[in-house]
Amino acid sequence: MLKGNLTCNIISKLLTHYVEDNLDNKCKDMVSIHLRNCPLCMEKYTVVKKLFMEAEKKRKIIKERERMQEEISSYLDGEMDEKEINDFEQKLSKKPEYEEALIQTMNLKKTLNNSFYKTKYNLKTEITAKVMQKLKNSRGIIFGVINLICYFFQKNSKEN
Ligand SMILES: [Zn+2]
Repeated sequence: MLKGNLTCNIISKLLTHYVEDNLDNKCKDMVSIHLRNCPLCMEKYTVVKKLFMEAEKKRKIIKERERMQEEISSYLDGEMDEKEINDFEQKLSKKPEYEEALIQTMNLKKTLNNSFYKTKYNLKTEITAKVMQKLKNSRGIIFGVINLICYFFQKNSKEN
């Protein structure tokens, strides 16, 4: 179907660029004209546009969260000056998601610290256990040898 100067096939290839506003004005106009005259492509456009808007929204939310997380980290790590601390604490009192994220981050840090020390402790006790086992084993051999010597001595003294 030819509507305007472009075929539906070309339009469907241009749709994402059109939605992302990556086309030059002339090309944009040609797509617009086609869309106005072709219900099929208009339908495709609506779907692509919707997906694009949803993706944009998600990207925005993720970016905002990243920014928030960065702020929280520098707050907890003591990297803020007095003004930044004031601004941050104001946000904290106004925005519940900041408070929630702060608590989560603090808990995460606590857990990480705990598991770090736990790992260190486990490693220590594991090493100690290994050393003890080794000592036990070597002691076992030594006792075995001593017992054997005693056995021979006893035997010899009996025979004598
Ligand atoms: Zn079309």
